[in-house]
Amino acid sequence: MRQAGRIVAEVLATMREMGRPGVSTAELDAVAEDIITRQQAIPAFKGYPHNGQNDFPASICASINEEIVHGIPSPHRILKDGDIISIDVGAIYEGFHGDAAITLLIGKTDKETQRLLEATEGALMAGIAQAREHNHLWNVIRAIQSHAERSGFNVLREYQGHGIGRHMHEKPDVPNFLGPRGRRPKNYPLESGMTIALEPMVVAGDWRTRVLDDGWTVVTADGNRSAHFEHTIAITNGEPEILTRL
Ligand code: MG
Repeated sequence: MRQAGRIVAEVLATMREMGRPGVSTAELDAVAEDIITRQQAIPAFKGYPHNGQNDFPASICASINEEIVHGIPSPHRILKDGDIISIDVGAIYEGFHGDAAITLLIGKTDKETQRLLEATEGALMAGIAQAREHNHLWNVIRAIQSHAERSGFNVLREYQGHGIGRHMHEKPDVPNFLGPRGRRPKNYPLESGMTIALEPMVVAGDWRTRVLDDGWTVVTADGNRSAHFEHTIAITNGEPEILTRL
């Protein structure tokens, strides 16, 4: 998983360099796929099944502005000055998965958008800081949610992080929202050796979403912008290990 994570981190470092006005999301996807396959790894998202049809066609998810996650790369989607783009990527190395995402500011963006990105990445890091042996999953969720809400934003409730290992999506689910008593997700004790993908998706407006006609792209229902950061981490008997960081 360290190796899979390193490949994912390398892809995202390259995406960070490439992400500028005039670049298409298909170009980003082609470079990402090349980095993955050159290292005898497999792009985890490509061909990912969707209700038995309409498998995901690309190696990255590229989600611009009000798109939150699962945006499909296209030669017709060209980054413009002032956009933000979430790039999510997964790689499988010798049967083990890595999964991570970043959101990039393209060209010049406004202060509020910058604040949205900082709050989202901050929420991810706050969650990671709680991902320790003898803590519980709810500590992680609460840290993510409260960091985002303290900044005046909302966390998405319909999409979430997940356990990860030999499969991209394993138990436990890792929501970013705790919810009212009686309707909370199952709480788990965190144990050394668990590997999970934390991925706050944070919105500037309402948390409700809808899916576009392509069957994949998730957008905010109210058209507000959204940011997304993700790391695959390992719980240890000390500091959590971030596997998708170079
Ligand atoms: Mg994920």
